[in-house]
Amino acid sequence: MDALAIEDVRKSFGGVQALQGITFSVAPQEIVGVIGPNGSGKSTLFNVLTGALKPDSGRVLLNGKDITRWPAYRIARSGLGRTFQIPALFENMTVLENLLTASVEHNWDGVHERASAVIELLELQRVAAEPARSLSGGQQRLLELGRVLMREPDLVLLDEVAAGVHPNLRKLMLDVIRAKREAGTTFLVIEHDMELTGEICDRIIVMDAGEVVAKGTFEEISSDAHVMEAYLGV
Ligand code: ADP
Ligand code: MG
Repeated sequence: MDALAIEDVRKSFGGVQALQGITFSVAPQEIVGVIGPNGSGKSTLFNVLTGALKPDSGRVLLNGKDITRWPAYRIARSGLGRTFQIPALFENMTVLENLLTASVEHNWDGVHERASAVIELLELQRVAAEPARSLSGGQQRLLELGRVLMREPDLVLLDEVAAGVHPNLRKLMLDVIRAKREAGTTFLVIEHDMELTGEICDRIIVMDAGEVVAKGTFEEISSDAHVMEAYLGV
């Protein structure tokens, strides 16, 4: 069974057809990238998957369950986690408190052990007692990922999680994503950076103007001159 199946999903904003019939699926423990130029519908797709937006038509299945009309909190509780393009942290709380509060609506049992494990995994030990606002941009993105991991999701949506992150932290982030995948987590990753997509994704979906215009491995996509030129401007 697919971890995620998206079936002919459509969404318009007034006259703008942001999603014009998106269909693809993600297998368990797969890392799939979604790339495409600005305005191609990537964030709208994420908002539909998390329940923040309702599609005009089409279906979304999470582990075979039709979640299309579920409220966002119920989808989150069913094992779908996401990061935001702009980290949504509690700036005046410490790193540890940011991790603990991520579990408030999830599962409070063993929360301190889980937070310790996440801090170690993301190498945030030295800043665990510091307010989130004092972290570097890259560390804030790691903490954002940590807040998602605290809920032990089956499927994680990452919205440009490595954008602007220092190469050392970026390597750590990719290592963490790979380790979590080995442990059973599935990832759908929006990325602007084609190279990064190639480093981490098993498969890539190319979107343009609300449609899927190509699918394949990094090698297939990056050797498709038409896709590279027409949709990615390279
Ligand atoms: P991407 O994340 O790929 O840059 P978006 O999903 O943000 O693309 O946007 C897709 C299209 O939908 C764009 O034309 C954008 O202007 C439009 N759009 C997105 N959200 C809204 C909204 N809330 N209201 C009106 N138009 C929107
Ligand atoms: Mg976006």
